[in-house]
Amino acid sequence: MHLRKQSEILRSAQNDIDEIGSRVLASVTISVIRLSMMKPNYVRVIIDRGIRRELDYSVPETLAGRIAIGSRVRVPFRDKFALATVLATLEKSDAKGIRPIDALVGEAPTLSPSLLELAHWMSAYYCCPLETVMRSLLPQVIRRAEVGWKKQLVVHPSKIDLDKIDNLRKRAPRQAELLEAIGKLEKPVPAAELLRNISSDNQTLRALAKRGLIELREEAIARDPHGDEMFVPTTNLQLNTEQNLALEKIRRALAAPEKAKPILLHGVTGSGKTEIYLQAIRLALETGRTAIVLVPEISLTPQTVERFKSRFAEMHQGVAVLHSHLSEGERHDEWHKIHSGQARIVIGARSAVFAPLKDVGLIIVDEEHETTYKQEEAPRYHARDVAVVRAKLEKCAVVLGSATPSLESYHNATTGKYDLLTLTQRVDDQQMPLMRIVDLRQERRKEKIAPILSEKLSQAIADRLAKCEQTILFLNRRGFSTSLLCSHCGAARNCPNCSVALTFHRHMARLTCHLCGHTAAVPKKCPECGKDALIYAGFGTEKVESTVSQLFPKANVRRMDADSMTRKEAYRETLRNFRAGKIDILVGTQMIAKGLHFPNVTLVGIINADLALHLPDFRAGERTFQLLTQVAGRAGRGERPGEVFVQTYTPFSPSIQFARHHDFAGYFQQELEFRERCDFPPFKHAVLITVRSAHEGRAKLSAETMARRLKESLGPEFMLSEATPAPLEKLQGQFRFHILLRGEAIMRLSRLVRETLEKLPLPEDVIAAVDVDPYQLL
Ligand code: ADP
Ligand code: ZN
Repeated sequence: MHLRKQSEILRSAQNDIDEIGSRVLASVTISVIRLSMMKPNYVRVIIDRGIRRELDYSVPETLAGRIAIGSRVRVPFRDKFALATVLATLEKSDAKGIRPIDALVGEAPTLSPSLLELAHWMSAYYCCPLETVMRSLLPQVIRRAEVGWKKQLVVHPSKIDLDKIDNLRKRAPRQAELLEAIGKLEKPVPAAELLRNISSDNQTLRALAKRGLIELREEAIARDPHGDEMFVPTTNLQLNTEQNLALEKIRRALAAPEKAKPILLHGVTGSGKTEIYLQAIRLALETGRTAIVLVPEISLTPQTVERFKSRFAEMHQGVAVLHSHLSEGERHDEWHKIHSGQARIVIGARSAVFAPLKDVGLIIVDEEHETTYKQEEAPRYHARDVAVVRAKLEKCAVVLGSATPSLESYHNATTGKYDLLTLTQRVDDQQMPLMRIVDLRQERRKEKIAPILSEKLSQAIADRLAKCEQTILFLNRRGFSTSLLCSHCGAARNCPNCSVALTFHRHMARLTCHLCGHTAAVPKKCPECGKDALIYAGFGTEKVESTVSQLFPKANVRRMDADSMTRKEAYRETLRNFRAGKIDILVGTQMIAKGLHFPNVTLVGIINADLALHLPDFRAGERTFQLLTQVAGRAGRGERPGEVFVQTYTPFSPSIQFARHHDFAGYFQQELEFRERCDFPPFKHAVLITVRSAHEGRAKLSAETMARRLKESLGPEFMLSEATPAPLEKLQGQFRFHILLRGEAIMRLSRLVRETLEKLPLPEDVIAAVDVDPYQLL
């Protein structure tokens, strides 16, 4: 779970404008393009500031014929200038005191009419100001006054004496490390890229330059995060019958997109969905159109990117990659590569749904059930749903793929809103892995306290070690112990800012809050009662790793979670070593649950399947089912069949039983009945309002007033909860209250909520956040 950057949510863009000030707009307006349109006299724009109003400006003679919908412009605003996007062109305007546009930024319009229309839809649907939506559509680095390739710091390779490195190692080890890496360079690389790859920083780099040990230059080069890799071209594989049927359906959707429905491709892991995507993209390209592929951030691995780049290796620079680890410069370059038409395929995480591609023929959303598609800060959109709407606006085909479709999408498919395509077989005819349930209640009876590894699971691991096969152990919780308790007075060490216990991390020897990052020393005695009676309770991946290492001292055990993988290189390296068989047992969090493909893994152990089940969230069961199915999909992808051990205290819960039998339809049926009975999605839309403040009383009062007002303005067709303390009552020092609304007519509900909230002034230190179709109910 992660709730991020609270303070940034709903923050207005106060600072943008001052930056621009009197900066010279040198690179602007280089060539004049004539647009085949009437010359408008006025335009309506939205400026890059949270003023929640659209403004009219006149078009000066010098810009006549060059301004279109989607153009970026510089306009006078109050006594300064602001950057803005043109939303509409007008023959006349009734606004008073209209001033002229100051300058045009860039040449061609930055946003297409359909992307602008998408922005309007998002604003209405997600109950969010248009300006906030525009922040997602136009990355920060594009919302600047300059256009074109930006100059950046480049590190040049140079011969470096080993002596110099050794010398430095004592005095400045970080500089030595960086110098060593530079010594190995074969060609100039952007500084940002180098520093990120080896987790170093600018200061260290500058220090080396100051010592005269390396050479730095400012240069304008187009960065390509994958430019130095070679891709071996691959060709279409011969599809099997099921795959052929699926591709045929997509071919028809591509031929007549305005008539086609979104396609849900439900295929077990390894059934060849990605191969279908690749061939479908080829079809789209052949008709002169382009394609967007969304994948969850976590599966945007080098492996995935390579598969796409290799298949389309003949298109130099034709595949753009967008993800959250790009540097500003790289993001800028990829964006322009897309906007200029150089890239014809975009593969990326959530925000790639806004990629400024022209002639989009196909949008693919892989692993469509993944919750990382939902953005947890404003605009709180779901990229899958936005993809479906964009496809409609662009009149293109859209394919949603998953081994465990979300209930929402599957429901849409069974009710005929989407077309359903099913792949039932793994490509290589492998069996689905055998799932064994281990009842931890019985293990506990035997041993008094439940072991981390049950007898059965440890035997299975020993067996794999003997056969030189590999094991994955999965636990969705980081750290060593999940709480530090006093066995005398019962007090737990809680975070001072959040209502959760602090987790003990052994490698740091500190207590840490996983929500706000607060850390504290480990006390020797209980700070409450002074007794020397502290005990560590609960466990995370760190403890699993150490237990497994103790049990199997000869095995090579590695851990893969957010703590051990702070460097990007570490992640690749661990995967490489695992694939090469240098690691016997890989312990990890959801980082290892998805998309990875290792033929020699024949055993997967799920250490505790109940973690997600007990969250106060109506999707808890669905998430558990998906997680078990996905993790299990990691086992037996080679010649030998796989086996999965699921350790649980609730062996008879439906999510575990249905997952065990690989019975998606059965699971879906019973879960839908539950959702319908309780008026939850997909039967009703939900809107969650969170009201928070550092002042508990004011947060509570505001939430109660808001609930009362909403009650007055919403008709009886909508359900409304009382204002209640959120399950996570306190977060980052703020007290939180929830109001949950439900109803079918979501556009109407959104509008009523917006109108009500606009009329309700909140105290300055109280913030309300509206989340439409929420995934985060804590
Ligand atoms: P999914 O995306 O459903 O997990 P993939 O497309 O990754 O499945 O396919 C799994 C493996 O099978 C990959 O190695 C892929 O290259 C291979 N594969 C897919 N389709 C075929 C096919 N028709 N013939 C042979 N191999 C295939
Ligand atoms: Zn905290």
